[in-house]
Amino acid sequence: MNTQSASLTPELIEKYSVQGPYYTSYPTGRQWTGEFGAEDFRRGLEELVRSDPNVPLSLYLHIPFCKRRCRFCFCFAEVTRSREKIDEFLGVLFQEIQLVRRLFDSLGIEPNFREIHLGGGSPSYLEIDQLKTLIEHLRPLVDVASLDEFTLETDAITVTSDKLLQCRDLGISRLSFGIQDFDEQVQRAIGRVQSPELIASLMTPDVRRSFHGVNFDLMYGLPFQTRQSFRETIAKVVDLSPSRAAIYSYFHMPEMYPNQGPIQQADLPGTAEKALIFADAVEAFVRNGYEFIGIDHFSRPGDDLARAKDVGTLLRHFMGYTAGRTPHLIGLGPTSISGFGDCYAHNTYSMDEYRQAIQAGRLPLLRGYRMTEDDKIRWAVISRFLAYMSVEFRDLDERFGIDCRSYFADELAGLESFVDDGLVEWTDDGFRATALGVFFARHVCARFDRYAPVDGRAKKNQFVPAIQRGQC
Ligand code: SF4
Repeated sequence: MNTQSASLTPELIEKYSVQGPYYTSYPTGRQWTGEFGAEDFRRGLEELVRSDPNVPLSLYLHIPFCKRRCRFCFCFAEVTRSREKIDEFLGVLFQEIQLVRRLFDSLGIEPNFREIHLGGGSPSYLEIDQLKTLIEHLRPLVDVASLDEFTLETDAITVTSDKLLQCRDLGISRLSFGIQDFDEQVQRAIGRVQSPELIASLMTPDVRRSFHGVNFDLMYGLPFQTRQSFRETIAKVVDLSPSRAAIYSYFHMPEMYPNQGPIQQADLPGTAEKALIFADAVEAFVRNGYEFIGIDHFSRPGDDLARAKDVGTLLRHFMGYTAGRTPHLIGLGPTSISGFGDCYAHNTYSMDEYRQAIQAGRLPLLRGYRMTEDDKIRWAVISRFLAYMSVEFRDLDERFGIDCRSYFADELAGLESFVDDGLVEWTDDGFRATALGVFFARHVCARFDRYAPVDGRAKKNQFVPAIQRGQC
């Protein structure tokens, strides 16, 4: 996909300078409520597995501990040096795994988990014997040996190349490193100092051969970041040649995330600079042979994500983009999110509530949501657009028995302003983003979000990150 960052004018950036959801779900978490409970979860799961007993599933586990607390981070995590504390938490997590196993047993179903994602926090902070014990406890629920993908979020200072190879021996097949930025001044400001040489020392030929892929997470909008400094970071990233990369936006919300307190607003790049930092990065990745997968993901042509995009199976969910094996995800651990069938479910943020619920044999749910038919139609539009930057009406008409042109008459009329701005163009059977419009894909999606504010766009500072991945 070509991009046109040179056409990103200050006027356009200002006009669209509003924060909005990442649309890893629809409706977004703001619509979910505490009325959704364990019985809704069970019923939703039952409907899913009754419609296809062999339905592929993925599993997310949230390990909320880190060796350090980075100042930019949005994740639910705490720093600890206490192995006992982590062991105690793992004991509760093992009980939650058993709880879910019993749920499947009560439905008479052998679950078909195809993927696992260990996130947090820093799951790589676990000692090898703790990871081994965790995987042992997963075996009643998951056939680890037959997984298509098993990812470990990795903080570089918690591993050695030997430890990574031991992780591979346990069945972990992908690594995701939190990189953010390689500029020393930026790293000091965000409290996360790690050199490109450290990452290079971990990505030995043995490690590269042993894993199916390596992802780097980057972040733009960080203190002291400039277009030039981030270009240099991208050049170093390209030299290290991860198979995938994702670039997330930093949002400064110290009132919500106290760890961001030491970051000074005055040190952050301005709105226009931030947009151009991102646009430069997109161009640099594409120029260096990466495929632009969607709004913030890139992959080498041979990677699963690029292949999924080519064959039309790319999916959007709480992990960002996935290779399309399954849209159905079950999340375990505090704050984790499940999304399967018609349901979304969100676990509690409180460690005490989490522990008490599990020990009482209850799912530790905070809130959830059951999609309506209209939600499903809108999610089909939004997720398709975010994956392929285009929407084809005929597919939706056939799938949902609607006439898109009349069903979305108001929304399509609302797209005219995007057409006028050169961001969207009509096709014979729908619409697509222009090369410039890919930078505004989430704004287009907001037009189809019936819960968004009246003008179809979220207001400034109303954004809540909703990607279920650490920035580790
Ligand atoms: S970025 Fe990773 S290591 Fe840093 S605080 Fe967040 S989860 Fe922990």
